[in-house]
Amino acid sequence: MPMEKRFFLETFGCQMNVVDSERIVDLLQGIGYGQVAEPADADLILLNTCAVRDKAERKVYGHLGRYKPLKDENPALILGIGGCVAQQEGEKLLTKLPYLDLVFGTHNVHKLPEMVRAVENNRVRCHETEFLDRETRLQLFPTRTFADTVTRFVTVMQGCDNFCSYCVVPHVRGREISRPSAEILHEVRQLAASGVREVTLIGQNVNSYGCKGENEMSFARLLAEVDGIEGIERIRFTTSHPKDLSDELIDCFGSLKKLCNHIHLPVQSGADRILNLMNRGYTREQYLAKVLRLQTVCPDIRLTSDIIVGFPGETEEDFAATLSLMEQVRYADVFSFIYSPRPGTAAAGLPDTLNPAVRQVRFDRLLTQQEEISRSWREADQGRVFEVLVEGESRQGNGQIFGRTTWNRIVNFEGDRSLAGSLVPVRISRVYRNSHLGKLVEN
Ligand code: SAH
Ligand code: SF4
Repeated sequence: MPMEKRFFLETFGCQMNVVDSERIVDLLQGIGYGQVAEPADADLILLNTCAVRDKAERKVYGHLGRYKPLKDENPALILGIGGCVAQQEGEKLLTKLPYLDLVFGTHNVHKLPEMVRAVENNRVRCHETEFLDRETRLQLFPTRTFADTVTRFVTVMQGCDNFCSYCVVPHVRGREISRPSAEILHEVRQLAASGVREVTLIGQNVNSYGCKGENEMSFARLLAEVDGIEGIERIRFTTSHPKDLSDELIDCFGSLKKLCNHIHLPVQSGADRILNLMNRGYTREQYLAKVLRLQTVCPDIRLTSDIIVGFPGETEEDFAATLSLMEQVRYADVFSFIYSPRPGTAAAGLPDTLNPAVRQVRFDRLLTQQEEISRSWREADQGRVFEVLVEGESRQGNGQIFGRTTWNRIVNFEGDRSLAGSLVPVRISRVYRNSHLGKLVEN
């Protein structure tokens, strides 16, 4: 019997990459590769990469550099890179990095087995970064109808047509395409039958699901269908673009029992002038009107957001508008980023006179203000009893189990592993920055 080959896979970036990596695992197992946890034990090392900010991209090169000595020691080792950096740089990567064997783009994950075989058999170096046509892409949506976890991501759409001026995603993920609803619902039913209790419907811009003349149901309708699937207890979705957040979708937070009371609704900036330069397609007032409607249909809803600090030309007044919007909305959490120019994007061509130190100071001010608000949300949970969907053993490795509240806060508590998959009442006894500690309420 030939010894099984081994691969090591490292995943960077967003939930789209997480799902692509699962597919990579399936495909490699299909050609006789087993996954290992240590790069030094592998015959094949793959990086699934993120290009959204320069820092993310530099990290990829840093890690690749770390694997180079392994290749020097073992020339038979295959080193490959996929995902958004691979898509952005393409064949150039093979020139830039002579120790690299293969480069596969965001539409070419399915070609991985034949590429690996080609490298193994012929020691050729190869790259595949062509974008595919709609028909082919429709056949290639990531699917998994069985899972041994309580929660699952389900891809409903891919790509993005929004072209926010700072963002590389439309360039590296291609045009928007929605997956047929029948396929999505079939997958969710199968997952529910295999024990999954929570699904998160994912895409770069889920709110425009079915909006590209695909003669399909709206995203709100899709949610209502998922809500009716037996076995599923909770539904989440991400990411939402505010401009495509319809009243019909907002109303789901009032009408669908299983939809969690949380929405991630990235605002990016609180200043109309900057929102316009970002090509976001909404004003501060329009955004706040949607927030108000969300809070009206679901008074218990909590919002989270993404914010970019220091977009080219951002004035002190623009930045103050962002801070005041954050005060007004009172997000439970904010993911903030210092603006990073990305190749090929419109914003990269804007005059940029902002000093890096000014960006850093604004970023720190934003963090400080938000931490105050996040802390008050956390503290408000102290002593209250929440319904928690138990996911399994706590990652802290102390024998506790963990689950999440409707707002996606992690709660660790003493309990039996067999509770995984159940909704249980838990009283919050201590609040920490990243999780709560609780006690199971026995009835
Ligand atoms: N499709 C999602 C996620 C996009 S990327 C959405 O539209 O919300 C995730 C976040 O990264 C963005 O929301 C934005 O805040 C940030 N981001 C994207 N490009 C960036 C850039 N060039 N510089 C800094 N932050 C950026
Ligand atoms: Fe990027 Fe804007 Fe598309 Fe989000 S909506 S992926 S920020 S272009």
